[in-house]
Amino acid sequence: MAAGKKCAFEQEHPNLRTGTGTVTGSRPVAAATWMVEFTAPELAGAAEPGQFVMLRLPGLYSPLLGRPFAVYQTDRASGRVRVIYLVVGNMTGKLSRIETGTPIEWWGPLGGGWAPIEKEGRPAARRIVMAAGGIGYTPFYMLAEKYAALDAPPELLLLYGARSRDRVPDLGDFEKLGVDVRLATDDGTAGRKGTVADLLREKGLLVPGESLVAACGPRPMLAAVFETARKSGNTPCWTSLETPMSCGMGLCFGCVIEYRGDDGKTDSRRTCVDGPVFDAYRLVWD
Ligand SMILES: Cc1cc2nc3c(=O)[nH]c(=O)nc-3n(C[C@H](O)[C@H](O)[C@H](O)COP(=O)(O)OP(=O)(O)OC[C@H]3O[C@@H](n4cnc5c(N)ncnc54)[C@H](O)[C@@H]3O)c2cc1C
Repeated sequence: MAAGKKCAFEQEHPNLRTGTGTVTGSRPVAAATWMVEFTAPELAGAAEPGQFVMLRLPGLYSPLLGRPFAVYQTDRASGRVRVIYLVVGNMTGKLSRIETGTPIEWWGPLGGGWAPIEKEGRPAARRIVMAAGGIGYTPFYMLAEKYAALDAPPELLLLYGARSRDRVPDLGDFEKLGVDVRLATDDGTAGRKGTVADLLREKGLLVPGESLVAACGPRPMLAAVFETARKSGNTPCWTSLETPMSCGMGLCFGCVIEYRGDDGKTDSRRTCVDGPVFDAYRLVWD
């Protein structure tokens, strides 16, 4: 191939960057939940709300592959990126023990982010209801930050559900943006006793023609949120999926999900390149 000419893969992923950053901070933010901050100026400059990044710990063969994480916050001035994660296994366990100054490999930004919930660069509804369960609040901060900065911002709500108080992170970042944060826990130790779907069912929250639900969290929670939106006058509902994946770039087909096309027939979609945000009305839930 001629020097300077882009191969098919590069043409398909014009914004893909990769690099090795340095960890600049790591701290717990709730039970089993950590924030890692690292330098990645190209990623900080390019990431859009709802996009994700693959992270890999260099020099390790376990895990050999990277893992996907939503880009939580970026600071373009310092070139730093923050990711918040739940410790569930090999990579996240090792990441929680990482020290400042350690190198970390990344590639991204990946996926289309929350672009599908916009029309001509504006949120597609007057009220954006962000519904998050557990670690599923991470793709929402950049969305709230973008929308709060608009000349005529939409009404922004974050409905957050967790198992119990110790699992609830500090959601002050959202409150500072003017987001109306509402909380529910399974055991009632913080906020209302119940689930995110219970919060969504509160009277007057889903106004037909005015509200849009954007959801992220465990699949049963997403299904309940979708069902609530559907029963509330078919309120638009978009879900950011966290399907496990190996490459994040459409090569491994590890993150395939079932999707209903325009003709009503089900087809496959890759969460990494076709998502991670999908119209909940097009997903196959059972
Ligand atoms: C687009 C996207 C964005 C994501 N954003 C975040 C984020 O911001 N913060 C965060 O904490 N996590 C996020 N995840 C999930 C995260 O990628 C996994 O938790 C991580 O890969 C686990 O790696 P591990 O090596 O620690 O776990 P492993 O050792 O690989 O697995 C441990 C256990 O967790 C299960 N598991 C692994 N991945 C997932 C998954 N995606 N969903 C459900 N169960 C899983 C495994 O089946 C196994 O039981 C995201 C996933 C995707 C696809």
